[in-house]
This record gives sequence, C-alpha cells and structure tokens, in this order.
Amino acid sequence: MAYLFANWKMYLNSAQADALMEDLGQVDLGSVEMAVFPNTLDVRKALGALRGNHIAVGAQNAAWVPQGAYTGATSAQVFADGGCTHVLVGHSERRHIFGENNDDVRKKMEAALDAGLTPVLCIGETKEDMEADKTMYRLKKQLTKALEGLVIPKGKLFVAYEPVWAISGSGNGTPCAPEKAEEVHHAIREEMKGLVNWDVPLLYGGSTNDENVVSYLSLECVDGVLVGRASTTADSLRNLIERMKSVS
Ligand code: PEP
Repeated sequence: MAYLFANWKMYLNSAQADALMEDLGQVDLGSVEMAVFPNTLDVRKALGALRGNHIAVGAQNAAWVPQGAYTGATSAQVFADGGCTHVLVGHSERRHIFGENNDDVRKKMEAALDAGLTPVLCIGETKEDMEADKTMYRLKKQLTKALEGLVIPKGKLFVAYEPVWAISGSGNGTPCAPEKAEEVHHAIREEMKGLVNWDVPLLYGGSTNDENVVSYLSLECVDGVLVGRASTTADSLRNLIERMKSVS
C-alpha cells in the first residue's frame, strides 16, 4: 500500500477539474490510497465525484479560527462540516508566498485536529538552508513548533517532506536525489519518535512524476508521495497511479 496525495493547487479551471475528477472516479487504484486537494470552489464537486472510488478529499489550506469576521478565509471546521477529511498545513507555497510562519502553522495544526481533520504537515528547507548545511536544523524546528505537546490520535497525521527547491513552479523544480530523500526521511523518522508515539506515515514531495516515483517509493522511510503538477492531467495522473501500483 502506498499513499498518493494530489495537490491541484490553483492549476485547474472548473472545466479541467470536472474532467479530471470524472476520469479519476473511474481509475482502478489497486493498493494505492489516494487523497485529492482541489481548490476550495471544487471541493464539494470532488466529494461527490470521488466518493465512489474511495478517494479522500482535502483542503489545500484552512484558517485556524472556526468562524467569524475573517474575509476570504475558510476554516478547518467549515471544511470538516462540508465532508473533507484532510488538510495540507504549512505547504511551502503558504510559507514562502503567503508569509505563514511556524506559529501560524501551529495554530492551523491545532484547528485541524480540533475539527477532526487529518493534517498533512508539510516541511522543507530552502535552497539557502541546504547550501548552508541547515536542512535538519530547519526541519527539526518546523516539526517541533508544529507538533510538540500535541496529542494526536493514531492515523490522524501525515508528514510530507518537500524541499522548497525541489517543488516545480514555486521552487526550482530540481527533483531531490533519492539517496538524499532517504537520508532526510530517516532523520525525520528519528525526530518524530520524540514527538508522536505512533509511526506517522511520511510522504515525499517535489517534482515527482511517473518516471521518478518508483525511486522514491522504494525507499525504506517513504510511505507515499505528495504530487503537484504531475497530478493535474488525466494522462500523467493515470501513469503515476500505474507506476505506483506496480510497486505497492
Ligand atoms: C507540492 O507543491 O506539493 C508539489 C509536490 O509540487 P510539484 O509536484 O509540482 O513539485
């Protein structure tokens, strides 16, 4: 079994999202466990279109307050009431384009858990961090700030390691070498032992596609992938799923 979490970001217009959901609703997933993160306007449609194929639907971002005078925001509670089960928290684009810091991420983690959503906590170092040999310093800080002291029920958390420089579009789009991904995931797993008392599934994200997905999935510490660009067309998504099925 392997996880495939598809982050559609703001790539698709309504017609493209409809077509992709329709296609995905028919795909044989085998042992691939999938969640899709559409834009907020398409969440309800996704819930209807993907339920039959047991694909979970999540929010790409959620506000930390449940309700109130917060123009433009949608809370974790509203997503949960609407039927979402997952939420991305601390995605690199939220941190680096929208300026969210570790305190914001912590508040969003708490709100997501309070609302009964499963957070997918995204962490990753910048190119500057990596070049200054500060990868683990950055990741430990992100993990500790987000998780320390929280009591998280078993199965209600994923952690996605997404080096900022590896993300396509907003980052440099340089895929992380699998050996490096394994080394970092291993260190994350060790760090997680002090923070959560059950084995949290770890995902890799950053320019993953059907050609390189097997190299990540065959790593010991990687339980699945969080995919942006390559999950936004029916052909590349189907190819990705087929490759994943062949190794999971
Ligand atoms: C992401 O931003 O979560 C991501 C993994 O994007 P991409 O696959 O496009 O690099």
